[in-house]
Amino acid sequence: MTEDPPPVAPQNGRVSASDLEIARLGPARIVSPLAPLLDARRTTEHYVDTDDRVLLDDTAAGLSSRGLPLDELPGLEPCGPRREIYFDPSKTRAGIVTCGGLCPGLNDVISGLVRTLTYHYGVRRVVGFRNGYQGFVSSYGHDVVELTPESVRDIPVDGGTVLGTSRGPQDPEEIVDCLEQTHLNVLFVIGGDGTLRGAMEIVRVIAERGLRIAVVGIPKTIDNDIPYIDQSFGFQTAFARASESIRAVTVEAKSTAGGVGLVKLMGRHSGFIACYASLVRSDADAVLIPEVPFSLDGENGLLAHLHRRVDQRGHAVVVVAEGAGQELFDDGGATDASGNARLADVGPWLRERIAESFAESGRETSLRYIDPSYAIRSVPANPYDSVYTVRLSQAAVHAAMSGRTAMVVGRVRRRFVHIPMTLAVSRRNQVDPHGDLWMAVLESTGQPWRFGAD
Ligand code: ATP
Ligand code: MG
Repeated sequence: MTEDPPPVAPQNGRVSASDLEIARLGPARIVSPLAPLLDARRTTEHYVDTDDRVLLDDTAAGLSSRGLPLDELPGLEPCGPRREIYFDPSKTRAGIVTCGGLCPGLNDVISGLVRTLTYHYGVRRVVGFRNGYQGFVSSYGHDVVELTPESVRDIPVDGGTVLGTSRGPQDPEEIVDCLEQTHLNVLFVIGGDGTLRGAMEIVRVIAERGLRIAVVGIPKTIDNDIPYIDQSFGFQTAFARASESIRAVTVEAKSTAGGVGLVKLMGRHSGFIACYASLVRSDADAVLIPEVPFSLDGENGLLAHLHRRVDQRGHAVVVVAEGAGQELFDDGGATDASGNARLADVGPWLRERIAESFAESGRETSLRYIDPSYAIRSVPANPYDSVYTVRLSQAAVHAAMSGRTAMVVGRVRRRFVHIPMTLAVSRRNQVDPHGDLWMAVLESTGQPWRFGAD
């Protein structure tokens, strides 16, 4: 009997109310410039009640496991405009930076931030830092870009980020030197877990120097691996586009005798894109994700499954997430510029193993392999993600203007909330091998719970 991977259990139970408190630079005393707008329209209910909370637990079991009186239940601060804000908009300077890999929706976030800062709050100076954290370090010589509603109006049409991005460590002291020199009050960081860890270093240096600069993150992860939030922006666009690659490879596989299609999708540690994209048309015969180890050989192995499918249906389709099967490779210990582990390339390896196995069995086959990762990362956001990114960026601006810092914005059970940065990087969101998403995939593909398990 092979050992099951440990279940990825929800860890809400370990989080207490104090873990969810959002840091503030100080009391908010300035009446928000939104006031005339919202009051005139009698929409004052849009102001967020400072004491309101979005409860972390949403099941009776979750609540009862705490055994707490109601007011001690951990709750997340709702996003939205506050009647009193911390920064005087007429004196506020805001900066934006994008770091890490590309993801659909980055330009939408930049555009949304600039518009909300300018139109709603009347902030007069918004600047973009080029090429990630490099943009703050003078030795790289990157210029700072003035951002206006006009200059960002059309940027969401294109994928990528108009500000550029980078990986690799930068000195937080130098970054804060730059924030001081540019008289920045508010910094928006758009990036993944590495970027947010970098942002926490910036927050630390800001606090050490006694500065009053808010740092608010808009978490970017195409893999959807940020914990607590429902879904990260760009994820819908990514899996929709990925499903087209599965469709293409399926058409190819069906068109030839013994055709086998193989698609490698993003997902270094979390297989959400592979799962969702495979569920779109249910074309896949096997889905391989990092959370569920697999073996190729034996009666229950992947290869035997594919041979059976080709016998039954004339073709077979495999979807593999880039981080799947890493346990089958020797870990070379290599890392990228940011210190992330370099993964073994499972796609070409799998293609060879499948080809060898069909050749050995004397079956006629033709194998088609697609790796659409870069094509997916660079597409513009779909309408759903466009709307989502606009709302996230608006939420981020409201949070920063109210003096909140060291936090990210996200949506939890359809509500926009503030999440402390420490919590957003505390663990990874992963597909639960015992959860309903993985069960849905198994029902759709008809594959065993785990290839190679007895
Ligand atoms: P992706 O999802 O594409 O990996 P990411 O934000 O995690 O996005 P990284 O390349 O890991 O991308 O990191 C982006 C930036 O954050 C880099 O400049 C990197 O040096 C910095 N960074 C990463 N990890 C840390 C850390 N632990 N402490 C400080 N800075 C970090
Ligand atoms: Mg990362």
